[in-house]
Amino acid sequence: MLKKVAIIGGGLGGLAVAIALHKQGINAQVYEKARFLHSVGAGLSIVPNGLNSLEAIAPGITESLKGAGSPTQMLTLKKSTGEMIAQKAVTLMEKYGQPMLLIRWSRLQEILASALPPETIHLDRRCIGFEQNDKGVEVYFDGRDKVQADLLIGADGLNSAVRQTMIGDGEPCYAGRMSWRAVLKYSHEMLPANEVMSMTAPDGKIFGFFDLGSGYMFWAATSLWPDESIIHTGDAKSRVQEKFLNWAEPVQAILKATNAEDIVERPICDRPPLQNWSQGRVTLLGDAAHPMVPLLGQGANTAFEDAWELSQHLCHAPSITDALVSYENSRKPRTQIIQIRNAVQANRSYKADSETYLRGMLEKAQVSDREFEEWLYNYKPSVAAYT
Ligand SMILES: Cc1cc2nc3c(=O)[nH]c(=O)nc-3n(C[C@H](O)[C@H](O)[C@H](O)COP(=O)(O)OP(=O)(O)OC[C@H]3O[C@@H](n4cnc5c(N)ncnc54)[C@H](O)[C@@H]3O)c2cc1C
Repeated sequence: MLKKVAIIGGGLGGLAVAIALHKQGINAQVYEKARFLHSVGAGLSIVPNGLNSLEAIAPGITESLKGAGSPTQMLTLKKSTGEMIAQKAVTLMEKYGQPMLLIRWSRLQEILASALPPETIHLDRRCIGFEQNDKGVEVYFDGRDKVQADLLIGADGLNSAVRQTMIGDGEPCYAGRMSWRAVLKYSHEMLPANEVMSMTAPDGKIFGFFDLGSGYMFWAATSLWPDESIIHTGDAKSRVQEKFLNWAEPVQAILKATNAEDIVERPICDRPPLQNWSQGRVTLLGDAAHPMVPLLGQGANTAFEDAWELSQHLCHAPSITDALVSYENSRKPRTQIIQIRNAVQANRSYKADSETYLRGMLEKAQVSDREFEEWLYNYKPSVAAYT
């Protein structure tokens, strides 16, 4: 009997699964390590598979999101010199019934959090592990009282403490790239509303600009960076300015306009696909289960799919164990293909012990771009059938 669910992590996936469980009348409590639900200084794109999942979780929520973000209508690709490479209209709405919606991370998190009773979100709770038996799970927090639950969901992201207690596979894998990003209120004549522009150079550097609506924009830059532990002197702003020194406008103007303290500098990391991510009364969701490099923009979108499916299996399966087995069986093949496709596009290679397994996944992930897009965006959240 599922009386109480403890969710570790009040990020995008944790909040989405909490809403989905509340809608089904299940007592779901969120435990977040941060003292505030704070901005992580990013924008992100929510696409048809993610928007359809959110709409299934909380009918009407996609209208609020659309009011808070910017539907992308045009993608532009340029050389670092400013020379045009290609321009393409975004036709997701026409093809799949939902747009590519660019939105500030902080607004998305606020909108999700506002769909929950405030007393169900517990801040300043850093999970440090759990123990379980056939009657329940005991969850431990740093300097705080432990919590009892019937089910524990680890939605605590790339460095998941729940995953470490369950699987113990150590640090994430560094993908060989450093990233810099910022969100700011800014406009520039070369950056029209409802557009995403990327600039690239043959040495692997990329600089992207994303209109987020309401006068905000997000920029994200990446560069090959051989060793994540090498942090040079000076601040992040001077490092990114130096890396993109001779790039054409609007790169220089936007870097100049960004406050140094608003720039987030992070190594890009992922992990190879897992063969199992549930154990007894504990399971994982989102980046804790299947972290991916942000190339295809699917981390949050697949977390929303996870949230919907997990809530459905928990409502309809005869037992928690059956629900978690069905959830994993349904989610693993899809998320593995997306993880691998991301990794291939990012020229990733993993350690030898996972290579045989990855070769099998790679074959499944090798379809044409059009086939992949249709498979990805045609995802429709459905209700799990149990007899
Ligand atoms: C720059 C950038 C751009 C991106 N763009 C896109 C995009 O366009 N589209 C897309 O779909 N995805 C994108 N992603 C990926 C996406 O943001 C993640 O995949 C998504 O946030 C995963 O959701 P999550 O809930 O699993 O993890 P998160 O959203 O990371 O949330 C994890 C939460 O757990 C908390 N936490 C961590 N450890 C503990 C602990 N021990 N105890 C308690 N709480 C803990 C954290 O504070 C955090 O709030 C992007 C990521 C980045 C960095």
